[in-house]
Amino acid sequence: MPPRQNLTYVVKLSKFCNLRCRYCYEFSQLGDKTRMSPHLLARLFNFMRGYSALNNAWTRIIWHGGEPLALPERYWADVDTALGRVFGHDLPDQAVQTNLFSLTDWRIDRLRRIGTVGVSFDVHPGERRAMNGKTSELTVLANMDRLRADGVEFGCISVAHRGNLDKLDQTFAFYNAARTGFRILPFYRSDNPGQVDSYGLTPAEVVTLYSRLFDLWLTEGDGIQIEPISRYVEIAMRHITGKKAPPFNKRRAEKVVMIDTDGTVYSNANAYRKGYAYGNVLTDSADKVHTSPGRARDVAEAEARVSKTCRTCPYFGACDGFFMAEATPHEPQSDCALVRPTLDHITASLRRFGRLKERLALHDLPPVDDLPITAVA
Ligand code: SF4
Repeated sequence: MPPRQNLTYVVKLSKFCNLRCRYCYEFSQLGDKTRMSPHLLARLFNFMRGYSALNNAWTRIIWHGGEPLALPERYWADVDTALGRVFGHDLPDQAVQTNLFSLTDWRIDRLRRIGTVGVSFDVHPGERRAMNGKTSELTVLANMDRLRADGVEFGCISVAHRGNLDKLDQTFAFYNAARTGFRILPFYRSDNPGQVDSYGLTPAEVVTLYSRLFDLWLTEGDGIQIEPISRYVEIAMRHITGKKAPPFNKRRAEKVVMIDTDGTVYSNANAYRKGYAYGNVLTDSADKVHTSPGRARDVAEAEARVSKTCRTCPYFGACDGFFMAEATPHEPQSDCALVRPTLDHITASLRRFGRLKERLALHDLPPVDDLPITAVA
């Protein structure tokens, strides 16, 4: 039995969105108002109970889209009802990823009830556009002020892409001054070649970006947490001090799955790839999904990547291998090109940096690791 941990379900309630961000990988579906039906929600939550039990995990839900807050208030009441029927008072932890473009009293109340809030915000106006083509940032900034005034805590997610890479220092300075934790999400994956041409970063650029953010955090950081930098620092610290993390065992204890609007289940690594779908919660039991050919293929390839790449990596042990196990087809499959070179930089810097413990203690604030993750802007 693996040790108990969270299993995060990234739930695509609907792809509809009230923005038209130009790099969004869901771009072609942002006008589609299809949403999960009450029947599908009931099936989904029952599936979660069974699938989390198979993975000996606690259920954690990230409401995703599209824009989850573009769904009407009464739809969220249906979600509550369906959740309550399956989980009773023992509700799963919830998080939401929102563009915060439209904020009303009931939306503030919903965010407060969900608990963990990630706001997509790039700081520099450019690609996050309203339907009329106007930039969205000033509206979102005002809404962030409103959230703060109402006591709703949140972190942010910023996409780093070719058009704003040169503004990374200012992005850091903005969040640092606001004492708001954030996740940086480098743009390098999309099935739309036009988006990759316009916005895509190379692996070397991503490593430079992470390394620069780490340097800023260490030398100028005012206590904010930055993901994934915080996670990399943890690994580097374990590496330096000889500590180990339990290896990620996707076969026995998955950490993230994605549920599409039609109920199809995917891994994080192979989201939307037909031959890798685990099954569908409308038609398949948790057991069937767990033993499906799509999952078997996904897990076998994850294990092959870890076996080929991690076993010879000096960080393996301190690092649990998750990054290679969950590498998407848009990332190198036999080279940990984003993380390992970043760990080289962080480890060397930490070894050079005097009074390390005292310095790190300055950053002893609640982590933003619980922010909605991933894959998606
Ligand atoms: S290759 Fe990458 S994922 Fe694997 S142990 Fe090394 S740093 Fe971690």
